[in-house]
Amino acid sequence: MGSAAPGTLLDMRILIVGGGVLGTMHAWHAVRRGHQVVQLERDAGPRAATVRNFGLVWVSGRAPGAETTVALRARELWEEIGKAARGLKFRAAGSLTIVNTDAEVAVLEQVMALPDAADRELKLLDAGEARALEPALGADLRAALWCGRDAIVTTTGAWRPPPGASGFRALSVPAGAYGRGCRHRDRS
Ligand SMILES: Cc1cc2nc3c(=O)[nH]c(=O)nc-3n(C[C@H](O)[C@H](O)[C@H](O)COP(=O)(O)OP(=O)(O)OC[C@H]3O[C@@H](n4cnc5c(N)ncnc54)[C@H](O)[C@@H]3O)c2cc1C
Repeated sequence: MGSAAPGTLLDMRILIVGGGVLGTMHAWHAVRRGHQVVQLERDAGPRAATVRNFGLVWVSGRAPGAETTVALRARELWEEIGKAARGLKFRAAGSLTIVNTDAEVAVLEQVMALPDAADRELKLLDAGEARALEPALGADLRAALWCGRDAIVTTTGAWRPPPGASGFRALSVPAGAYGRGCRHRDRS
């Protein structure tokens, strides 16, 4: 098990229930820290929210402070995973939030005044600037908020071991307990 000394915090055996993105992200990080990880999933692969979502790595709408800090860190991790994982694509696409009324424009102006607007790469665009980016926008467009840190993650849908789980293999679990299990072990 890596170079961790037996009996230390670096030598933990960790059980994770659930093969969705949260379970897999925790398994990946635990493996990278040198722990032994057993991850259990009741289905043949993740079929719940993790494979049904829109794949938006959403930074633009987060509350200022801790929530935005976490969202920016998550974006870094998705970018890293996108380079390492087969079947997963990270697209630094950015996003446009479009508005049609003066009241909505006033809200975007408030967003632009937030202290972390630059960290999120926010920019208030007039209708012409927004249409230059997206010609399909409608005629009643008043303005748009560009966020350069929003991104998109797409996958092939195939269930694969998380990056770093080089010793990934199936684990038999007792009938009636959980349908399927996997043991992650970093042997790099
Ligand atoms: C329609 C939709 C769109 C979304 N769009 C976005 C988006 O654009 N961006 C974004 O960031 N988030 C989005 N989300 C939210 C995001 O998908 C979820 O927050 C995330 O997938 C939750 O991950 P999870 O691992 O906690 O849950 P899940 O993906 O639900 O995984 C939980 C897993 O645990 C397994 N499990 C449960 N109980 C047991 C048990 N007792 N034993 C063994 N296994 C068990 C389940 O089978 C499942 O595979 C969206 C969600 C939905 C539904």
